[in-house]
Amino acid sequence: MNSRKNRTLHQATVTHIEDITPRMRRIRVIGGGLHALPVAMPGQWMKIFFPAQPGEKPQGRAYTIRRFDSGAGAMEVDFVLHGDTGPASRWAGMARPGDIVQLAGPRAGYRIDPLASAQLLIGDATALPAIAAIVEALPEGVAAHVFAEVADQAEEQHFASRANLTVHWVHSDTEAPGTTGKLELAMQHATLPSSPQVWLAGESFMVRAILTHLLFDRGILHTSIDSAGYWKFGAADHRDADA
Ligand SMILES: Cc1cc2nc3c(=O)[nH]c(=O)nc-3n(C[C@H](O)[C@H](O)[C@H](O)COP(=O)(O)OP(=O)(O)OC[C@H]3O[C@@H](n4cnc5c(N)ncnc54)[C@H](O)[C@@H]3O)c2cc1C
Repeated sequence: MNSRKNRTLHQATVTHIEDITPRMRRIRVIGGGLHALPVAMPGQWMKIFFPAQPGEKPQGRAYTIRRFDSGAGAMEVDFVLHGDTGPASRWAGMARPGDIVQLAGPRAGYRIDPLASAQLLIGDATALPAIAAIVEALPEGVAAHVFAEVADQAEEQHFASRANLTVHWVHSDTEAPGTTGKLELAMQHATLPSSPQVWLAGESFMVRAILTHLLFDRGILHTSIDSAGYWKFGAADHRDADA
């Protein structure tokens, strides 16, 4: 998921806010600099810089481009509302139309292999925006299996897709999705397609455990797997080596 970093900052203004589930907030922003962004793949992401207190440096966090409209110079981003412990979640929790952020990117997304016999897409709540964008982009009839951990049934999303899609939900209940070990267990017991192309993201320890399982117990080639730790339990502004 690595790419050459584009450090140009684009100013964007919040125009719409919608809670698509109780803990997932979709925020649409528009900006003059967004028209020409090279957004062509699902799972591409931006670094979003949030307004800082006077005298402080703006803090940036990585967020997936859920939807992009080049004509309108607009993009939608889905934020997990995990509380006010971090600048991104705090900002999303209080965002209002007219608020301004700075965006850098986009950075690399998921290159769908047209020759892959099946797609395996795995992640926690932070991975859902990318998973939703990937399944929307899959060709008709491709076998695709989604394994996702969210808090509860209210957090399950409907995915629009032309693929032959099977979705397995795991619930973290009172814990943060990605921190319970339940998705790791579900993967160990799952019947998986042979030689799939894999996309995997979420809490860092969870990603490492599932990646190890896929490589060593399932024999899936490393070259067929895109994986990234999107956040790390107990660590602010976690940066995965790949992200
Ligand atoms: C390429 C990429 C794409 C991403 N796309 C998305 C996306 O589309 N939507 C999205 O919601 N997230 C996404 N993330 C994850 C997001 O960047 C992190 O969750 C980030 O840490 C949130 O920043 P924060 O300021 O809210 O918290 P931070 O200041 O980074 O962390 C503060 C505390 O909150 C905890 N924390 C951070 N995230 C979570 C969480 N999800 N649940 C529970 N506790 C958490 C940390 O462990 C820490 O203890 C993406 C990450 C990457 C690398």
